[in-house]
Amino acid sequence: MSLRSLSPATGKKLRTYPAFSVSDTSAIIDATHTAWLDWRDLELPARARCLREVASRLNSLKHELAEIITAEMGKPLKASRSEIEKCAWVCEYFADNAQFFLHEEPVKTEAAQSYIHFEPLGVILAVMPWNFPFWQLFRFAAPALMAGNACVLKHASNVSGCALAIEQLFREAGSPGNLLRTLLISSDQVEDVIWNDKIRAVTLTGSTAAGREIAATAGRALKKTVLELGGSDPYLVLADADIEYAARTCASSRLINTGQSCIAAKRFIVVEAVYEKFESAFVEKMKQAKMGDPMQEDTELGPLAREDLRDALHKQVRASVEQGAQVLLGGAKPEGAGNFYPATVLAEVAPGMPVFDEETFGPVAALIRARDEAEAIQLANKSIYGLGSAVFSKDTARAEAVARQLETGFVAINDFVRSDPRLPFGGVKDSGYGRELGPYGIKEFVNIKTVYIK
Ligand code: NAP
Repeated sequence: MSLRSLSPATGKKLRTYPAFSVSDTSAIIDATHTAWLDWRDLELPARARCLREVASRLNSLKHELAEIITAEMGKPLKASRSEIEKCAWVCEYFADNAQFFLHEEPVKTEAAQSYIHFEPLGVILAVMPWNFPFWQLFRFAAPALMAGNACVLKHASNVSGCALAIEQLFREAGSPGNLLRTLLISSDQVEDVIWNDKIRAVTLTGSTAAGREIAATAGRALKKTVLELGGSDPYLVLADADIEYAARTCASSRLINTGQSCIAAKRFIVVEAVYEKFESAFVEKMKQAKMGDPMQEDTELGPLAREDLRDALHKQVRASVEQGAQVLLGGAKPEGAGNFYPATVLAEVAPGMPVFDEETFGPVAALIRARDEAEAIQLANKSIYGLGSAVFSKDTARAEAVARQLETGFVAINDFVRSDPRLPFGGVKDSGYGRELGPYGIKEFVNIKTVYIK
């Protein structure tokens, strides 16, 4: 059994990695557990020094690390560099703020003294996706490590080079040698890892299908899970929106990471009064994205990460067109090497079509016409997903009233949804549960211990 990295831009093989055996895997978990025993006893300032060193190495190695990302999953190089910078930010943010987030909380009771104390859980298994191969891991790991946990990483099979580079970063930053280790294993080896006694909890960022499998195993093994799953974020454009601005922001959000983001805008629900105006401005913006070699500085749309993912996306587009969606832009697979797919806009999209009901993981936008605001809200919530959403209106109070009715974990008003170390991030419904980042994220993998003194 081996894991393969292929170039999404050319289809050529980059490297093959032999998968770890059962005994390799359990030896690594033992070593990570031993590292954890030292790490959990370190004072927070010592943990913070280590995270700051990781941040500093991320910044100094930014160009090399960005090239590994781009080679393996096809993200344009400048986006890969921004991803590395954001990882450095999240390390610094939790190094600076963990002490405040984890301070003991006194509670007034009949006791002489009672308080809440936060302790780490142990070794956490992180199962991660390829779309932001550094950021997804760091946004879990920076708070979890600062809280005193250790981590074993099972990364997506197509980004083993990234997974090994992350492990090396921690090792070279002087953290206890085995604090964060990579397991080069396939997804069918994950179940055994979850059952390992030294694994105390599991986090998965990935598809809803993988979330169900992992949560079921973790449930049987009685291990806590945090699940960051798929999304089909609705962006609502109200009658009083600044249409030019809304169209520009919506197009940028749809195309971020070549459309391969859980929080990319996917469904654009526009009220009848401004539908035509929005449609033409939006198509213009989508047309402008330059597709090409992701190693070129001016490329905005790279190839999709894998050929099977491009095929699946195209199938969603074709099936939706057969059901009545109209192609305003793109919609055809280009000839030639690489998993390229053009910026695509489908109009007259309705519930029942794949591009409405399912997550589209690529640069495909679904335009949906709503009679009025009430129908726009209803259409937005008509989804199995509940990750992010956005509302465009010049009247903030009105947009806030709409925001309160949207069944999502994040609502942006006149902007796009983003992940930010300072803000909790996560979803409801089939988008998962639990939160990453901010003061809530750091408390996902802790024992909230009550101390009661008579
Ligand atoms: P994926 O196929 O679910 O894979 C994610 C990770 O789970 C990979 O490491 C994969 O390993 C592993 N995996 C898949 N099936 C598994 C199973 N049955 N048991 C154990 N492990 C399993 O997702 P992806 O294609 O990499 O990523 C795209 C998905 O992630 C999208 O749905 C996207 O919305 C979601 N995502 C969500 C967030 C969020 O914060 N909510 C952020 C980013 C991405 P292999 O590669 O070896 O199969």
